Amino acid sequence: MASRKSRTHDLATLALHAGDEEHDVDTPVVSPLYQSVNFIQEVGTAEGLRYPRYGNAPNAELVQRRVAALEGAEAAVVLASGQGATACALLALLRPGDHLLASAWIYGGTQRLFVQEFATFGIDVTMLDPTETRVWRRKMRKETRAIFLETPVNPTCRVLDLRPVSQFTKEAGIALVVDSTFASPVNLRPIEHGADVVIHSATKFLNGHSDVLGGVVCGTEAYIEEVRQKMMVWGQAPDPFACWLLERGLKTLDLRVRRQNENALRIAEWCTERKEVKRTHYPGLASHPDHDIARTLLDGFGGMMALELSGGARAAERFVRKLKLFRHAPSLGSVESLVSEPRFTSHHHVDAEQRARAGVPDGFLRLSVGIESAGDLIADIEQALR
Ligand SMILES: *Cc1c(COP(=O)(O)O)cnc(C)c1O
Repeated sequence: MASRKSRTHDLATLALHAGDEEHDVDTPVVSPLYQSVNFIQEVGTAEGLRYPRYGNAPNAELVQRRVAALEGAEAAVVLASGQGATACALLALLRPGDHLLASAWIYGGTQRLFVQEFATFGIDVTMLDPTETRVWRRKMRKETRAIFLETPVNPTCRVLDLRPVSQFTKEAGIALVVDSTFASPVNLRPIEHGADVVIHSATKFLNGHSDVLGGVVCGTEAYIEEVRQKMMVWGQAPDPFACWLLERGLKTLDLRVRRQNENALRIAEWCTERKEVKRTHYPGLASHPDHDIARTLLDGFGGMMALELSGGARAAERFVRKLKLFRHAPSLGSVESLVSEPRFTSHHHVDAEQRARAGVPDGFLRLSVGIESAGDLIADIEQALR
């Protein structure tokens, strides 16, 4: 469905300049913030009507062009949150009576949307172990319209291979929708591997400063227009200031994510040497179950990692209390390092046994590694383990 646009520049350059207007003498170097909900309309026509809820305010249009360039997509639309992006992306694809195949390893909010909300719309969702490509084929129905998955997976840091799935969706003539929030376009551009639709919570790596709530959907121009229509009627458009902040955050995306990749790899390697750490989950480690997939699919192994401490839940709680640089907060992808325990966040509603089966036993800690000095972050972990 999505076609790939040829890249004019490398990602670091696109993150700063893609979609810019021509710069004449006296044009401000920083794009101005148009914090206005009204724009003077031409008399005698409905053409060109501008209103932020339609997704065509100047700051929204600029950041949409930029994100599309980063993902190598024809078009993109920016929404008020990642959750809004997922909802509108799928409402634009699915009708009552349709069937969606989804990975069972997805964000809690996405799961609620599929299980609680889509059922009331007459949209049937089947959730599967995403590593079993053969099962995808078996569960396919004639009403199946799309496959939805998330990679790398929150919070286990598993990495899914998009290539066999996209081969299957192409053969079947259905859409492959990928939530690529954990990777950011620096580490993975799903369209290059056959995805049709890419979704991000821009709240995370894309903005990267813990100060914007936003979401993005990328795909073909015709499809993005459908998503924009859903965004308009369901009221999911972002405010101009959120778009302006997101554009500002994107300028340093490449620098930030590369530093996060480096820091996380160093921390993960250091943790594997410690007896207090029972397991280190990081796709950059040779011991990771998806290391080979990650090596061939990703440009960087990411800023997200997880630890299981030898002392279980009690040790994890003590460790989190003692950390000084890593802040205990639920979100991710920002410049500052964060730590969270899924049993008190995304997996709070699941009982301990089910959590353990989902690969998130008590004592499991998710780290979102920031851009501080790796040495300082390691020293912080060391003093907290002691
Ligand atoms: C945070 C997150 C979302 C939801 O995004 P919001 O911006 O919080 O609405 C969706 N998918 C993934 C993988 C996330 O981490």
